[in-house]
Amino acid sequence: MSEIVSASQALVPEPHKAPDSELVLCRYCDLLQQLPPLQDGEEASCQRCGHELDARQRESALRPILYALSALFMLLLTNLFPFVGMDAAGSHRDMNFLDTSAVLLDEDHPWLAVLVWLFIQAIPCFCMLAIIYLKLGMYIRLPALVQMARLLYMLKPWSMVDIFLMGLIVSFVKLLSHFDISLGMSFWAFCLFCLLHLRTFQVVDRHELWSRIAPAPQPVAGKVAGQTGLSQQLKVCSCCTALVPFDEPRCSRCGTKVRQRIPDSIQRTLALLVTATILYIPANFLPMMETVSLGESIHSTIISGIILMWQDEAYPVAIVVLLASVVIPILKIAVMFWLCYLTTLPLSERSQHGTWIYPVVDWIGRWSMVDVLVVAILAALVRFDALVGVYPGMGTFVFACVVIITMLAAMSFDPRLLWDPSPSEQMETERD
Ligand SMILES: [Zn+2]
Ligand SMILES: [Zn+2]
Repeated sequence: MSEIVSASQALVPEPHKAPDSELVLCRYCDLLQQLPPLQDGEEASCQRCGHELDARQRESALRPILYALSALFMLLLTNLFPFVGMDAAGSHRDMNFLDTSAVLLDEDHPWLAVLVWLFIQAIPCFCMLAIIYLKLGMYIRLPALVQMARLLYMLKPWSMVDIFLMGLIVSFVKLLSHFDISLGMSFWAFCLFCLLHLRTFQVVDRHELWSRIAPAPQPVAGKVAGQTGLSQQLKVCSCCTALVPFDEPRCSRCGTKVRQRIPDSIQRTLALLVTATILYIPANFLPMMETVSLGESIHSTIISGIILMWQDEAYPVAIVVLLASVVIPILKIAVMFWLCYLTTLPLSERSQHGTWIYPVVDWIGRWSMVDVLVVAILAALVRFDALVGVYPGMGTFVFACVVIITMLAAMSFDPRLLWDPSPSEQMETERD
């Protein structure tokens, strides 16, 4: 367990001029504060909103390389051997890992095939390669480190191997009542790949990574810890966490366009939320998948799929799908609307719970993708001639859009607005 050192310990009670090298701006609440010197294994959290500012990892250069290499090796094994075997009515079928995308492509669902391939193969593989490249860049001179780090943090939320693993478990439970399933070598390699992939990201120290690639610009002359960035004409780079003065449009370290606040954040978030809400209605009525069994075809929607699993006594899986496809999307949309509403209230009447709820909602939203991946897996796996098969329905496409749009809505929401004066309060101060 890492020890938590509050940044407030490093602050003297009165605002003071901090030494040049250690000022950081919280990305979640916009408070400028001094970073205490950290030992390996320690982390510093924001004194106002509690969000992590920086964490030191033990032996942080070598470990991520080893984890990432092992993860890539496991991904290679995953692609080499049979993934799952299935027996039904005297015939046997082996599925390889790549079949999840290949079958969908053959069946004229290129959008689903590309999404699945990106989420479970291309992006996770790129992230591991990028981490190795960046960490090697600490020892030897390599080109384009900045661009690589930018791309890594942009793509990270779209790597969905953990969600795919959950999708696999749900699919297997669904299938077990009808077929004999045998897990291949590749399945176990994939489980290890998931664990190593998660661990690699855990041991990469973002703050340290960036400071090794390029020194942080420190426009801190005369800036005071304990006050907001807004009041001191400072903004924070969303990509590399460097401090940027208001009058500079781009971060001098990574070149990312930096704004004081995400422009039209609330309007954009609301527009995306309304779109997601409207699309969520057909997503519930259109069939998620069509199951063909001996010439008989059954269309199932999200809800009818859950009811079917409940009747089959697969309770845990029914609950997982209910959470992922119904509870989480509705809750996420409702909470995001509430957060937008909070920003219009005067500061004194605002609930501060929004500050911790936002990162949770942002993180949990990806898990709604489970049902889409389950359909992709079932479509790849259940294919015995023309007699027995599972085919993705239009509902899967619409529901995938809902999940992606709610993820974009969370990304376009600026959590710092929860700490800023409301628009009416700003107008009052401008009038004074
Ligand atoms: Zn904060
Ligand atoms: Zn930057």
